[in-house]
Amino acid sequence: MNKRNYSKELEAIIAGLDKSAPKPKLLLHVCCAPCSSYCLEYLAPHFDITVFFYNPNMDSAEEYAKRAAELRRFVKEADLSVDIVIREYDSKPFYDMARGLENVPEGGVRCFKCYELRLKEAAKFARDYGFDYFTTTLSISPLKNSQKINEIGEMIGRFYHVDHLPSDFKKKDGYKRSIELSHEYNLYRQNYCGCVYSKSNELA
Ligand code: SF4
Repeated sequence: MNKRNYSKELEAIIAGLDKSAPKPKLLLHVCCAPCSSYCLEYLAPHFDITVFFYNPNMDSAEEYAKRAAELRRFVKEADLSVDIVIREYDSKPFYDMARGLENVPEGGVRCFKCYELRLKEAAKFARDYGFDYFTTTLSISPLKNSQKINEIGEMIGRFYHVDHLPSDFKKKDGYKRSIELSHEYNLYRQNYCGCVYSKSNELA
């Protein structure tokens, strides 16, 4: 089956927005400040954004707090007009999900379930607070499976009756731009994805 081009699908949605109407409300799930940087730069002109930091996959409360604080700092210093929701750290849902999948290599089924865990929470929040769309910054990472992220997002969006905004943020030099912005704002760039199982790998 042909792969869908989620980057172009996002472009088409943006091109179709009514510029004379209020911007649609978007809940953007964020994994860390570096990944959010380009996504926010790209999306902010078109959407009324709330960023949603919910990452029970983090291996410690310290790492969670560090990434959340860096996200707050970036939003402030970049003077972005977005709201921020930081959920409390609770790793139990992640470890419940990962039971039996501890030895699955990064990029496998544990990661797909990890995307699902975070996207479900984002979709529920988006539904409960009347957002037009929800999506995630996860597709900016060259190490993450954008096809799966979008398939899972669409499935969850159908379940919770809130539109999933397609994305492949690494395209259009998005990943490269996120590195530039990370340098510009001196953002903390962690060298692992987030969970304890990813700690032996080189790059998130
Ligand atoms: S490697 Fe990353 S995406 Fe995969 S389970 Fe761990 S934190 Fe989640």
